Amino acid sequence: LLSLRDVSKSFTLGSNTIQALKDVDLAVVRGEIAAITGPSGSGKSTLLNLCGLLDHPDSGELLFDGQPLCSANEAQKTALRRQAIGFVFQSFNLVPVMSARDNVEFPLFLLGVQAAEARRRVGEALQRVGLERFGGHRPDQLSGGQRQRVAIARAIVKRPKLVIADEPTANLDALNAAQIVALMQELAHEHGTTFLVATHDERMLPHCDRALVLQDGVLAGGAHAH
Ligand code: ATP
Ligand code: MG
Repeated sequence: LLSLRDVSKSFTLGSNTIQALKDVDLAVVRGEIAAITGPSGSGKSTLLNLCGLLDHPDSGELLFDGQPLCSANEAQKTALRRQAIGFVFQSFNLVPVMSARDNVEFPLFLLGVQAAEARRRVGEALQRVGLERFGGHRPDQLSGGQRQRVAIARAIVKRPKLVIADEPTANLDALNAAQIVALMQELAHEHGTTFLVATHDERMLPHCDRALVLQDGVLAGGAHAH
């Protein structure tokens, strides 16, 4: 579904240049749950941003569904992102003035999904994360774990091919974390949804198809899909 070849990315602030990713090779297939682990600052979020087409590599190649993206323009990338990729950000990025329901509906609105169909799918997504009773709450009226689950519902509501999740279980207790893992497995199995998950959460790893390790921007074991 997604592959990266020889991808590098660095950031420069003033005279300080940090190479966040070095010659990364990665291939993830349909229906796979791939975990990316590694210490803080090792480049996990940077890698997810590239995979989610939110940022460009300095060098190297990215392919989505076999299509090379180096030649795609911003509008094409945005269209692909809206259609095919769902995000769970490390800091949730919920819209504070909107209810949970409206936050979850937003990606469907961008896609022009009809109101009745959108309402049905939002209800289903909220139910899948166990928040059907909280649709009317704004983010500041929810707990951290509930906000995280709203973010997950928003990521899956359009049934994306790829879900990119940065620490999706970090704020969840054991029961809720297990439910989110089970949900990921269900979607991977039922719809072939692919998950690329950055995580420090030891509880997640046994449930992922593979765990890749990033260390100072170098990814070990990324190229071989099993
Ligand atoms: P954490 O586990 O703490 O979330 P991470 O593995 O996600 O860490 P990244 O956020 O990818 O790490 O950061 C990798 C390196 O790149 C860090 O040294 C960070 O300071 C740097 N970096 C990331 N984004 C930027 C940016 N926009 N501008 C400058 N430096 C950045
Ligand atoms: Mg990060």
